[in-house]
Amino acid sequence: MPIDATQPYDDDNIFARILRGEIPSTKIYEDEWAYAFPDISPQAKLHVLVIPKGRYVSWDDFSANAPEEEIAGFIRAVGHVARTHGLVEAGYRLLANVGPHAGQEVAHLHIHLFGGEPLGPMLARR
Ligand code: 5GP
Repeated sequence: MPIDATQPYDDDNIFARILRGEIPSTKIYEDEWAYAFPDISPQAKLHVLVIPKGRYVSWDDFSANAPEEEIAGFIRAVGHVARTHGLVEAGYRLLANVGPHAGQEVAHLHIHLFGGEPLGPMLARR
C-alpha cells in the first residue's frame, strides 16, 4: 500500500527498524550518513537500497529539510556504492519513489540502485 509522503516520520517503518538492527539486512556499505543493503525483492541483477541514517520520509522531506552536510554525505555515499560495485562504465540507474503516484511503500527515504545488466526502458509501458 503506497504511503502518503506528506505524513510525519514514523519511527516504526521497516527501514528505521533495519537501521536499529531490529530487522536483519546484509550490509553492503555504511558510513556516517548512509546505509546500503540489498533489496529483498530484487528487480535487476544488482538492486541495492541506499538510505540516509537521518529520519526522512522521502526525497521531498530530505531535499527540503536535511542540512547541507547530510545531503552531501548521502549523495556521495550513493555514488560511492555504485563506483565500488564497478557500475560506472556499463552504467546504472537510480530511482527514488515519492508518494502514491510513484508507489512508495516504505516511509523512509531510499534510493534504489539498479545495475549489472541492461535495464530496459525507464518506465514500464502503459
Ligand atoms: P518503494 O516501493 O518504497 O520505492 O521500495 C521499497 C523497497 O523495499 C521494495 O523494493 C521492497 O522490495 C524493499 N523492501 C521492503 N521490505 C524490505 C525488507 O525488510 N528488507 C529489504 N532488504 N528490502 C525490503
